[in-house]
Amino acid sequence: MPVPTTTATAMNTQHNGQDSVTRHDWSVAEVEALFATPFNDLMFQAQTVHRQHFDPNEVQVSTLLSIKTGACPEDCKYCPQSGHYNTGLKKEKLMEVQRVLEKAKQAKESGTSRFCMGAAWKNPPAKDFPYVLEMVKGVKELGLETCMTLGKLSQEQTEQLKEAGLDYYNHNLDSSKEFYDSIITTRSYSDRMETLSYVRDSGMKICSGGIVGMGETVRDRAGLLVNLANLPVHPESVPINMLVKVDGTPLGDIDDLEPFDFIRCIAVARIMMPKSHVRLSAGREEMNEQMQSMAFLAGANSIFYGECLLTTPNPAAHKDKMLFEKLGIRPERRVVKNDDSQQEASLLEQVQKKQDEALFVDAAAV
Ligand code: SF4
Repeated sequence: MPVPTTTATAMNTQHNGQDSVTRHDWSVAEVEALFATPFNDLMFQAQTVHRQHFDPNEVQVSTLLSIKTGACPEDCKYCPQSGHYNTGLKKEKLMEVQRVLEKAKQAKESGTSRFCMGAAWKNPPAKDFPYVLEMVKGVKELGLETCMTLGKLSQEQTEQLKEAGLDYYNHNLDSSKEFYDSIITTRSYSDRMETLSYVRDSGMKICSGGIVGMGETVRDRAGLLVNLANLPVHPESVPINMLVKVDGTPLGDIDDLEPFDFIRCIAVARIMMPKSHVRLSAGREEMNEQMQSMAFLAGANSIFYGECLLTTPNPAAHKDKMLFEKLGIRPERRVVKNDDSQQEASLLEQVQKKQDEALFVDAAAV
C-alpha cells in the first residue's frame, strides 16, 4: 500500500532534521489518511515527533480520585456512574476535604506528580463548590499539580477554580461531533466547547481527549482529534481511553476493539499534538504489557497510577513498577509553582532527576 502523500511529506520533514510543526488546521480527510498509513511507518513518524519534544523514556504519572461517585444526571452510554443505568455502583456524596487531602498525601508519597479529582456532576452545585475550592487549595499546598473534572462550568466557577490554584481542568470531547449524540443526549458538543473556552481563557491548562471502542468509525476518531488539535491552543494533556465495558451500561456488550486501532489512535494524536502529553488512560487493565509498551512507543507519555480510575479497574501499582523497570521508563518530575521556596525545591529536584530514579520504585514497593 503506498504511503499517503501527507505522511510522506511529514516523514521527509523529519528526515531533513526539522522540528515537527504545531498545526491547528487539520482536515478530517487528511487525518483519516494518517490513520490508514502502514503501521510501521505510522509508529516511526509518531516516535520521531515524540523525540523532538520529550524524553522518550519519561512518563508523567497522575493519580485520579473520585470525590463524588454515581447518580450522575448525564446519560453517557459508557459510564457506570450515570443515574440512567443500573450498574450496581455504590453512590457516594462529596468526600470530606480532609479525606481528599489524605489521599493526595498518599499519592504524593507514591511518586505521583498530579492529583486529579473527579465528581459525577452535570455541573458543580453551589452548595458543594466552596468545599471543592478548599480541596484545590489543600492539594496545591502539598506541592502537587492539581486537576479536576466536575462537568460543565460557568465562567465565574472557572475563574474561582483558577484563583484557588487549579492547574488543569479535564473535560473530554469523547468522540467526533457527529457521533457524540449517539453516546450522550443530555448535553451538547457545544456545551463542552464552551467550558473548554472558559478554561483556556482563565489561564488554566486543558486536559481533553476521548474514548475509542464505542462503535465509532475511523472518521469519528479523526474528527475527535481534529477538534482537539484545531483548538486555538492544543490541550496540554490528551487522554486517549479504551472503552472499559461495564455491565448494565448500553455499551456493556459491544464488540472488542482491535488493539492496533487503539495504538494507531495514540500515534495519530502524538503526531497532531506534538507538544501535548498524550495519556494512555482508561482500559490499561485490559492491555497486556506488550500493548502498553507499544502505546509508549506510539508516543503516549502519561498514565494514571493506582488501582482504580474513578470506578473502573486500573493495573496494580506493583505491575506498573515492574513494567517501568522492564522498559527503563522513569516517572516524569514536574515543577509545581506554588511559592518561591517550593519552586526552588522543585527545580533542584529536576536537576537531580538523572541521579535519583528511586522515588517511584521505592514507593511502589511499600
Ligand atoms: S462520564 Fe461523567 S458526565 Fe457522563 S455519566 Fe459519567 S460521571 Fe456523568
